[in-house]
Amino acid sequence: MSIASQLAQVKATLPAGVELIAVSKTHPSEVVMEAYEAGQRVFGENRPQEMAQKYEQLPKDIEWHLIGHLQTNKVKMVVPFVKMIHSVDSPRLVEAIQKGAEAVGRTIDILLEIHVADEESKTGWEWAELLEYVRSGAFARMPNLRVRGVMGVATNTEDEETVRGDFARLHQYKEELASSFGPEFDTLSMGMSHDYSLAIEYGATMVRIGSLIFGARDYSKK
Ligand SMILES: *Cc1c(COP(=O)(O)O)cnc(C)c1O
Repeated sequence: MSIASQLAQVKATLPAGVELIAVSKTHPSEVVMEAYEAGQRVFGENRPQEMAQKYEQLPKDIEWHLIGHLQTNKVKMVVPFVKMIHSVDSPRLVEAIQKGAEAVGRTIDILLEIHVADEESKTGWEWAELLEYVRSGAFARMPNLRVRGVMGVATNTEDEETVRGDFARLHQYKEELASSFGPEFDTLSMGMSHDYSLAIEYGATMVRIGSLIFGARDYSKK
């Protein structure tokens, strides 16, 4: 099936108010362009360098979302153009993005990635540490960041109850943090190809979908 028809199929399943981030990582610009020509304007990448390359090669009205782990020394690569960074998971990274955004005179949307998965994956804040950081008022000193909400990745398991539990917690964390921010704190980014329907049940406002649109990723080519 073509990318246009897979994209259309996915979009048909999304309720109003749920934004689709088309995750194009590992796929070349020509393939991303097929989705662009089918009308998609919002794309997610997990590596700063790959995203910067695609930004150079593709139309400038694309909104680029960084969804993968970001090292502080790579911040410079993305701040000139990134629309939203989903994977903000440490005070050091918050400060580095603030500094980088200020240097280029931009305001950047960020999400706070919270660790909920019951597995090896270590990315994301531990909830208690995040709460302490937010309550310390640190974000008041970050004028070039707009904190838009929460992001998370559920446990990769067949056990639906575990996945439901993870999404329910992310939803609750977002609700608990909302009072510390303004009305722009409205985003809950959760759900991938295999679990996004469940994520929507728990209030996802952004879903990050790759393989259902672009097909399986072939890492052996890299
Ligand atoms: C790759 C990736 C996705 C998309 O995964 P699919 O299973 O291809 O939909 C979503 N979120 C993050 C953080 C990713 O790294």
